[in-house]
Amino acid sequence: MTSATPVTPTALLRGSPLPPLEARILLTHVLGWRPTQLITRSDEALDATKVGQFRALEARRVAGEPVAQLVGTREFFGLSFEVTPDVLIPRPETELLVDTALAAMERISRPRVLDLGTGTGAIAVAIASTRPDAHVWALDRSAEALVVATRNAASLLDAKRPGGAPLLAQSDWYDSLDTSLRFDVIVSNPPYIANGDPHLSEGDLRFEPRGALTDEADGLSAIRKIVAGAPARLANHGVLWIEHGYDQAEAVRELLTVQGFSQVRSERDLAGIERISGGVWLG
Ligand code: GLN
Repeated sequence: MTSATPVTPTALLRGSPLPPLEARILLTHVLGWRPTQLITRSDEALDATKVGQFRALEARRVAGEPVAQLVGTREFFGLSFEVTPDVLIPRPETELLVDTALAAMERISRPRVLDLGTGTGAIAVAIASTRPDAHVWALDRSAEALVVATRNAASLLDAKRPGGAPLLAQSDWYDSLDTSLRFDVIVSNPPYIANGDPHLSEGDLRFEPRGALTDEADGLSAIRKIVAGAPARLANHGVLWIEHGYDQAEAVRELLTVQGFSQVRSERDLAGIERISGGVWLG
């Protein structure tokens, strides 16, 4: 009787058709190892079940499923967020929106913050985590997304944070929000890809919720609603910041200016692209 040659991490990674980083992420996920253990235990014989699990994930990745959905998590702002097919996968460029919102509330104690279309809850939770005194509201039209955001808020935030747990509610933009509420900061990463944009049928986007990506129109219809509804929800000197597509900055600044916002400007992401635009509401 011959026994099969043991399969090692080295063999699995060498034989993988995936980019090395993706293969390593899937393998550490299956094994429950830290990345460095792929080096220190590289020649260990692996359990056949684990090898099978890795090969199954590898095949799904080859077929296009996003790594974040396969492992169920994605890092954002130094926090590990649960990700499912019901939510947009947090993108690194969205950290700019968080940084800019945090800068805007620097001198406000117990700021009131609203995140529209929260998805995973990444923006709301990152802000709440950095500013324990902030009162954070996070809305989404999708009940499935709110389940994920609720779990992320519960697992990533201190239950005793002075600002309390974020208030998560189902709402189509501002529709279900108590009309008496006023916010110091409103942020949103809305669906801004235009209907028919070829990116929608490429890469990870094929597996993400369509409603989180496109407005099924010109890419600006959600942004128009967010801008139009903001003045009635902002405190005096409150700010609105919105993420948008690489070619939408001028159009979004125009919407903000026409709506009556002051100090309208855009900020560039690490790739040098004007990625977010915002302004101050002077009341
Ligand atoms: N940033 C995403 C992408 O282009 C789109 C997200 C969104 O529409 N808010 O991949």
